[in-house]
Amino acid sequence: MGYKTDIEIAQECEMKPITEIAAKAGIDDKYLEQYGKYKAKIDYNLLKESDKKDGKLILVTAINPTPAGEGKTTTTVGLADGMQRMGKNVMVALREPSLGPVFGVKGGAAGGGYAQVVPMEDINLHFTGDFHAIGAANNLLAAMIDNHIFQGNALNIDPRKITWKRCVDMNDRQLRNVVDGLGGKTNGMPREDGYDITVASEIMAVLCLASDINDLKERLGRIIIGYTYGKVAEQKPVTAHDLHAEGAMTALLKDALKPNLVQTLEGVPAIVHGGPFANIAHGCNSVTATKMALKLADYAITEAGFGADLGAEKFLDIKCRMAGLKPDAVVIVATVRALKYNGGVPKAELNAENLEALEKGMPNLLKHVSNIKNVYKLPCVVAINAFPTDTKAELDLVEEKCKELGVNVALSEVWAKGGEGGLKLAEEVIRLVEEPNDFTYSYELEGSIEDKLNQIVQKVYGGKRVVLTANAQKQAKQLEALGFGNCPICVAKTQYSLTDDQTKLGAPTDFEVTVRNLKVSAGAGFIVALTGEIMTMPGLPKVPAAEKIDVDETGKITGLF
Ligand code: ADP
Ligand code: MG
Repeated sequence: MGYKTDIEIAQECEMKPITEIAAKAGIDDKYLEQYGKYKAKIDYNLLKESDKKDGKLILVTAINPTPAGEGKTTTTVGLADGMQRMGKNVMVALREPSLGPVFGVKGGAAGGGYAQVVPMEDINLHFTGDFHAIGAANNLLAAMIDNHIFQGNALNIDPRKITWKRCVDMNDRQLRNVVDGLGGKTNGMPREDGYDITVASEIMAVLCLASDINDLKERLGRIIIGYTYGKVAEQKPVTAHDLHAEGAMTALLKDALKPNLVQTLEGVPAIVHGGPFANIAHGCNSVTATKMALKLADYAITEAGFGADLGAEKFLDIKCRMAGLKPDAVVIVATVRALKYNGGVPKAELNAENLEALEKGMPNLLKHVSNIKNVYKLPCVVAINAFPTDTKAELDLVEEKCKELGVNVALSEVWAKGGEGGLKLAEEVIRLVEEPNDFTYSYELEGSIEDKLNQIVQKVYGGKRVVLTANAQKQAKQLEALGFGNCPICVAKTQYSLTDDQTKLGAPTDFEVTVRNLKVSAGAGFIVALTGEIMTMPGLPKVPAAEKIDVDETGKITGLF
């Protein structure tokens, strides 16, 4: 269709030196650690030593998406560019992309079109090495576990009950289940083992929730790596602290804890830091990054993974609660294609105009709007992320329906036009953040695990109740007995539906959500409730994106998207 690709647009951008971006953000030289010309880390001591009042916090989330993503990152970046054009002092805080999706189906995660963060190749590939550091810390712990067993197993760890896996930042299904320690007595204790992708490692969630280096170390120490021999009632959790691992792990992570500074195509300072899974973990950039953006700018815009039922729920109920953050406004990204998808149109037909299906998909959007307004009590605006395939009739219909129902709405054309296309949305957000709000969580921490799950299912998903399988009931009892009953809950379910069944689109009611497995991420500080098998080590598709990526003799990368 003659559109430039994301990487072509990114490579045409004349980036400013990162020192200039830092100066614009008001970062004193003493806090800046440069990684080449266009990337830097920011020393976290800035947070403690700056006395500037925090800015306004804006969350960007979305309706239940199509498999291609609805443009949350794109909207986050474009909204910031739009606010800058209005003369505002603004920053974004985003997640770091994982190599798995970059080489798999999804491609990069640095925004799209004329709303991107740059240098996009670096951000999508090794960046400042944070993920490698997280992998190293994860695998150090794994090595110390097996070495402990090899050296006599003083802690009485049952090798069959080790829950800690090795990790690598790659989609590699071959490593999901492995047997290691083979080769006889001198080569370790044979056992069944496995790998997760690095972003699914608990270390990622821990790093992203840690408030400072001491908190990081304490959280790492609390990580449960498995259980001792014995009957269920006698089994004791074994922690990283029991293995004396947290000091060295923290040493490996000391620089990874520092947020990374880059820029948008229009020169807005952007912090890109951390990237936990949005199902078995909470799916947001680091707390340090968000706090840094709030500390430096008058407006900090951030994104949470997946649709609002997962991403925003965890951002608000887990991250904001743990970090003491209070959002000022929420942007809900909706696309014509996702509305049609929710209205029953199959993936292959999403590009054709279909006003009837579009209208049929609206209840999904309205449910998310209602959640933000009535459950969390926050002001919100719907951003219609315009795609080249949308027809005018379709875009008009969404806007009209929203207005009819009294929902704030703004058309966003940031993908095609950059900040210029985000002015209407920017104007509305600037207005909304001044509204007072009574931010409330969807559940309180007191009460049983089942109670909390019921609140999420009923209030946020719109279902009837949660059902715990016999197995999950047993686990809930055990976790409560171990003292984890008052942790927040991190639900791992499909992102495509408000229910636990990805084929139930729109805004279903009267459904039950079945939780089959409960486990604790004691370092992160939440209980993970799994509604089905959740893949923590993805595979590559038949034709991986990697086949199209190349680099020429000058070092210029092509084919990354
Ligand atoms: P999310 O953060 O919700 O996963 P992204 O912002 O990463 O979504 O966008 C997903 C993909 O869709 C990216 O490849 C991006 O370039 C593309 N995209 C986003 N918005 C638009 C748009 N308005 N028109 C065309 N493509 C878009
Ligand atoms: Mg994104």
